[in-house]
Amino acid sequence: MKAAVLTAERSIEVRDVDDPRPRVDEIVIAVEASGICGSDLHAWHGRHPFRRPPVVLGHEPAGIVVARGADVTTVGVDDRVVIEPHRICGTCAACRHGDNEICESKQYPATQGWTGSLAEYFAAPAAMAQRVPDGVALDLAALAEPLAVACHANRRGGIGPGTTVNIVGSGTIGLLCLVVARNLGADVDVVTDIDPRKLQLAGRFGAARPSDVRTSGIVGELRGRRRERADVTIVAATAPDSLVDAAALTRPGGRIVLLGLYGDTAAVAASALVTDEQTILGSLTYNSADFSSALALLADAPATYAQFVTKRIGLDGVGAEFARQADGGAAVKTLVLPRLTP
Ligand SMILES: [Zn+2]
Ligand SMILES: [Zn+2]
Repeated sequence: MKAAVLTAERSIEVRDVDDPRPRVDEIVIAVEASGICGSDLHAWHGRHPFRRPPVVLGHEPAGIVVARGADVTTVGVDDRVVIEPHRICGTCAACRHGDNEICESKQYPATQGWTGSLAEYFAAPAAMAQRVPDGVALDLAALAEPLAVACHANRRGGIGPGTTVNIVGSGTIGLLCLVVARNLGADVDVVTDIDPRKLQLAGRFGAARPSDVRTSGIVGELRGRRRERADVTIVAATAPDSLVDAAALTRPGGRIVLLGLYGDTAAVAASALVTDEQTILGSLTYNSADFSSALALLADAPATYAQFVTKRIGLDGVGAEFARQADGGAAVKTLVLPRLTP
């Protein structure tokens, strides 16, 4: 099959690689769409903790089942599915609680042992497949993965009707967290970023105060006004001061949900954390319940989520697209359609 291979740092080529064959508990899908993720860009730069070249990237696939292993009964050939992209043991304490994301022996795709989904076909455990609802196109369904990240973060933060929420960072994940929070009945106040285009989207999706973190002075303002701060702040940014800013945006007794930090350590406002009795919660990817929630949201309001897809390309365009995004080119979500004929 054809696949976009990260052959070395900053170099992606379309190559012929082996077709995946399903193990007894696996399915193979024909990939219809697979999103490019911020974490893929880290791999492209050689800064990803475990995704290193040579590797086929891609972990946000939606497609049609074309083969299944002998033990698979839950999904059949021709089913339209998305994949919760990890392999779990199913027996550790975390797995028994449904907390797939913290399985003791979790394995990820887009690694040497498991070819990623920027390819014509993708193999995955059948237990990690979920059927795509009828009204949801398969390319839109590829948004289920980042949307599940947002569902998980909202769940970790205990966000529900009437919760006030601030969000640090308006990338794809920050914006999806915003839409999910609004859908849960929360009021989203301050959403920060440094990119005016993303802040404009944050306003469109219902943030009361989209704020440029460099020029608006919003963080300093709220640091002095405890009563205006939110119950929960979601941190969907990796800037060095993100956690310090988050503390200033969160009320005493409030919660800070932290997603995806790529450094090992980060600064925290330690004494403010104590005097304000704030709680920091880590949030890692998703579990099957989050994927179900994401698919239900997509089925409910496909037009809302369609606004996140800003570009569609074939495998041939992947190398240039990574270079463009690394250069700061705007993209909320670029979808790779491996079956797109140029
Ligand atoms: Zn991702
Ligand atoms: Zn496990």
